Amino acid sequence: MQTILLPEKVSRILEVLAGAGYEAYAVGGCVRDAILGRVPGDWDITTNALPEEVKRLFRRTVDTGIQHGTVTVMLGAEGFEVTTYRQDGDYSDHRHPDGVVFTTSLAEDLKRRDFTINAMAYRPDTGLVDLFGGQEDLGRKVIRCVGDPRERFDEDALRIMRALRFSAQLGFKLDPKTREAIREFAPRLQLISKERIRVELLKLLMSPHPDRLLDLAECGITAEIFPLWDTMLATSQNSPFHRYSVGMHTLKVVEGVPADPVLRLAALLHDCGKPACKSTDLGGREHFYGHAEAGAKLAEAFLRDMRFDNKTIADVVQLVRVHDDHYSATKENVRREMNHVGEDLFPSYLKLVLADNLAKSGYALDEFMTRYQRVCKIYEEILAAGDCITLKDLAVKGSDLIAAGMKPGPEMGTVLNRMLEDVLGNPEHNSKSYLLGRYVRR
Ligand code: ATP
Ligand code: MG
Repeated sequence: MQTILLPEKVSRILEVLAGAGYEAYAVGGCVRDAILGRVPGDWDITTNALPEEVKRLFRRTVDTGIQHGTVTVMLGAEGFEVTTYRQDGDYSDHRHPDGVVFTTSLAEDLKRRDFTINAMAYRPDTGLVDLFGGQEDLGRKVIRCVGDPRERFDEDALRIMRALRFSAQLGFKLDPKTREAIREFAPRLQLISKERIRVELLKLLMSPHPDRLLDLAECGITAEIFPLWDTMLATSQNSPFHRYSVGMHTLKVVEGVPADPVLRLAALLHDCGKPACKSTDLGGREHFYGHAEAGAKLAEAFLRDMRFDNKTIADVVQLVRVHDDHYSATKENVRREMNHVGEDLFPSYLKLVLADNLAKSGYALDEFMTRYQRVCKIYEEILAAGDCITLKDLAVKGSDLIAAGMKPGPEMGTVLNRMLEDVLGNPEHNSKSYLLGRYVRR
């Protein structure tokens, strides 16, 4: 018998419910993860007790989704979602059940779940309840719908994104019938909110298998939600610097940066301006002049469409804009680049630049690495020296200019920027006496 070690608090909840005469099981993602030896994000519980009955049995509860039958039971600072067995009504809008019907049958509750690996329940005395071959699919490493895949994606097209996301997180393949139905129903993603698609896309991007981006294209998913990706995959790069298409190069860069949302998104989008900027010279070599700036605009449009937050958008767009900056590795240039990129983003910028160059052809890689290592070393020295990089580090503030007799106005900004220009080249000039003496006429 498959045994799962339940956290003490989960066991306690199951016991309280059983003690009151109800059925209760750990269910869904936590059972899947426990069998796989992964640490579950959260432990969900399914029960035949009605929400009101659950609330009566536990001292502290929160009505998190009571209309769907979910009550959160609080034990200490931890919350556990306890949901009454339910059966979903029809899905006439192809995204939400028209109504939720409670049922007394665990089997009915498991039947409404998306994939076999997500449709198992467990309690210590009964063991694993696996009605759809979930355990076998875990062993075979397969994502397979519960029931008829066409019906399941017809009901709720978000499941299409979830299938690819689980495939990426777990390193699983799609069952052939499930895959076929995904291709057929991908256009239905148009009915799903961008926010919900974004959540799944980001999980895929942050997973150990972002290469599932290729499946997204192959299944016709990105044609619906991110057509630029299909174009990137179809864009060749006939240049000594490159060995891959824009899309395949991009994938290597995504895999080469740490799993941080801004970095993974910046990697995904860094060359998205290339298809639109491609030109071919007389020798047949392909160029992409201006692709960073063009890419920044396209990246912004995509991220806005996907309803990313403003800070993420600003950071990603900036990284796309600067990822291909060229300068020789001198102290002054690195200071200027730190100012241009933004001090906070500079460490991410360095990671992106490294991954980008390692994903090229290998041509001129030695020169790149020598220059890159110099830039990193100089960056450390600049940080250690505490050199002035932005207006906020400048020894002179607006108030100093006023005290020195300047009239408040736009002229002040011009003077401060002129001072910063000077200081970026000559950090020793960053003193009030020098800067006021040099730039403010008394
Ligand atoms: P994660 O580790 O990402 O939380 P999870 O499997 O727990 O994965 P949740 O979104 O937390 O996923 O959902 C919990 C469970 O609810 C799933 O395991 C699945 O059984 C069911 N479920 C969630 N969303 C759907 C859906 N759109 N259609 C059918 N069942 C779903
Ligand atoms: Mg979960």
